[in-house]
Amino acid sequence: MSQRSSIEWTDGTWNFVVGCDKLSPGCAGCYAVKDVLRMGSNPNPKVTAANRGLAYRQANGILNWAGAVRLMPERLALPFDWPTPKTVFVNSLSDLFHAQVPPAFIRRAFAVMAATPWHTYQVLTKRAERLAALAPCLDWPANVWMRVSVESQPYAVRADHLRRTGARVKFLSVEPLLGPVKLDLAGLDWVITGGESGPRARPFDPAWALAVRDQCRAAGARFFHKQNGGRNEKATGRPLAGRSYDEMPEVFAVPVPPARDRRRLAAAFTPPAPAGRVSLTLTDPSFAVDRPAADPF
Ligand code: SF4
Repeated sequence: MSQRSSIEWTDGTWNFVVGCDKLSPGCAGCYAVKDVLRMGSNPNPKVTAANRGLAYRQANGILNWAGAVRLMPERLALPFDWPTPKTVFVNSLSDLFHAQVPPAFIRRAFAVMAATPWHTYQVLTKRAERLAALAPCLDWPANVWMRVSVESQPYAVRADHLRRTGARVKFLSVEPLLGPVKLDLAGLDWVITGGESGPRARPFDPAWALAVRDQCRAAGARFFHKQNGGRNEKATGRPLAGRSYDEMPEVFAVPVPPARDRRRLAAAFTPPAPAGRVSLTLTDPSFAVDRPAADPF
């Protein structure tokens, strides 16, 4: 977890769940599994404890998740500590709607977001069906923006599940964009596109992103192009047809309460002092050691 993020449209992350499973082709180049594997041997014992055993390197060199999802309720109240308003990427190292995250835990996270309206939260999931199933049980404060990933045409259906939520801002992460996509943008506010980056980056055609831009224009949705990707992300940059696209929904300004009031609010969300373990681990992460290499993506 860090308070600053290099992701262009957010300025912080809040990671109270770590660990995931690859679900669809967009997961092949998952940056989170790389970060978690690296942090699992961090010199800081707290960082190591949060990340150890959740990711491993397969025999073929590809990184994969070990199958455990680690919940860290002790991190739920962190947003009360931040003294300035942030636009927060929620759980950049996991998927909040992963099947191993209990509904009660998700509800607690939403309650924290509702109690800190001076921050804007961007929640991202590929588990759009579970999102839609749980959406009626969640409160949807205006500062929670809900996003689903659509990397290629077969996954465009995730937008239908997103539409069934009560989020004020609903948006799509169309990245890594793996081919041309036709989207139903009715009721959606924003679309982010991007090519894949890194040594195993799959091909990206700017024409695919320009076509998404045109669909946004037709539907009245904002459009943000993150990057053109490729093995050398810096070389390809962000421009599409000679310009950058940085549109995003409006962030409401809400004053931050004084520290003493925030501490009082935080107490309601702070779990009792841990006895023994500080994290609830639903699956023993140590089984990562013997897990056979089987990564379809
Ligand atoms: S859902 Fe996200 S965090 Fe999970 S494996 Fe896929 S890309 Fe990684």
